[in-house]
Amino acid sequence: MFDKILIANRGEIALRVLRACKELGIKTVAVHSQVDRDLKHVRLADESVCIGPNPSPESYLNIPRIISAMEITDSVAVHPGYGFLAENADFAEQVQKSGFTFIGPDPDVIRLMGDKVCAIEAMKKAGVPTVPGSDGPLPDDADVCMKHGRDIGYPIIIKAASGGGGRGMRVVHTESHLMNSIRVTKAEALAGFGDDTVYMEKYLQNPRHVEIQILSDGQGSAVHFGDRDCSLQRRHQKVLEEAPAPGIEQSVREEVYKSCVDACIDIGYRGAGTFEFLYEDGHFYFIEMNTRIQVEHPVTEMICNFDLIKEQIRVCAGMKLSVTQDDIEIKGHSFECRINAEDPKTFMPCPGKVNTFHAPGGLGVRVDSHLYNGYSVPPNYDSMIAKIITYGETREVALQRMRNALDELVIDGIRTNIALQKDLVRDAGFAKGGVNIHYLEKKLGM
Ligand code: ADP
Repeated sequence: MFDKILIANRGEIALRVLRACKELGIKTVAVHSQVDRDLKHVRLADESVCIGPNPSPESYLNIPRIISAMEITDSVAVHPGYGFLAENADFAEQVQKSGFTFIGPDPDVIRLMGDKVCAIEAMKKAGVPTVPGSDGPLPDDADVCMKHGRDIGYPIIIKAASGGGGRGMRVVHTESHLMNSIRVTKAEALAGFGDDTVYMEKYLQNPRHVEIQILSDGQGSAVHFGDRDCSLQRRHQKVLEEAPAPGIEQSVREEVYKSCVDACIDIGYRGAGTFEFLYEDGHFYFIEMNTRIQVEHPVTEMICNFDLIKEQIRVCAGMKLSVTQDDIEIKGHSFECRINAEDPKTFMPCPGKVNTFHAPGGLGVRVDSHLYNGYSVPPNYDSMIAKIITYGETREVALQRMRNALDELVIDGIRTNIALQKDLVRDAGFAKGGVNIHYLEKKLGM
């Protein structure tokens, strides 16, 4: 096992990783920007290093500074959390070249999954169901593009191979708009991602977002931990997640779980990962793989009663998976509400000082947050400040616990989206289960 891990992240996920390290008896190093010296995990870590000024490129995204911090603290591995450098293949490679361990898959695997065209091809080969599409980049030939469009059937979506964060996508409803949309998406992709490769997919009109959690040891074993439904999104940002996804037939789930596990073994995957799918009319369609731990991993931990981050660290230290598929029992239901420091009307980030933070509690309530009374939310980073997670034997129990938990939660001094979350957990359509990815934006009148 690792002797000392450097946590290359901030906020709640840095604290989450620190807790896992402490349970495993691993020493921790926190790295932080100037404004972040009072973060909760910085106070709790064995050592801390200030790696630079507040802008992310000068601190949390600065590879040489993070590697230097590993050197001066004698860290042996780095946990990237999510966001920042978590899916940066160059970072993973430089960590390895410097003689340290990156807690995640090999750089080549990160690179493969970062290119959506290559990822889809690899998944198809492994038997994972994908969206009907161009099966490769679109060429400059208009006739070939139009033939793809007709074969797939409109509406279609043009997507950038290197796209991310919900950017670099354009829906096309008729052939007359096709070539212009391809031109515009290519130009945007080149400007935004430095790569103008685009491909075409069938545009699914009312899908749900359902994803599958896996862990793989890169030594021939992989397991899944069931699925999560993350359909409640605003501008492709997840707002409220649950596990398992309601109302999906067991045989359909099992089939896609198996294909994900096979794919992990096929590509030599190591660590925690998520296969993201669109789900419509009883069918799963792969859209991308995230090669890291995700924000919403706690809902899976709750229904499986399993620490995903501890196991992620173990397998990346070269140990074999400590569980087989038969050991993983999915039981009950879990919800997660993301609490953001943002204006409830405009959704603009609202940093500032938290005068009072009072976390909810009780049976089946978990709070993953770095907040404390008097903490100042800086303006430089993501606006998520807490995750409220509930568990119940049934979906109804877990949902009622979330209503209670949100009523108990107090964050005073800054504006937040708590009112929106309270409204969502009382929404009749959501309570029924199985809403699609447009539901929240329609409700918000967007
Ligand atoms: P990103 O990497 O930018 O998050 P994804 O490929 O995961 O891109 O897609 C983001 C979102 O875009 C999906 O969650 C879905 O809402 C929408 N989307 C992507 N592909 C399709 C499709 N073929 N049909 C309908 N919606 C899609």
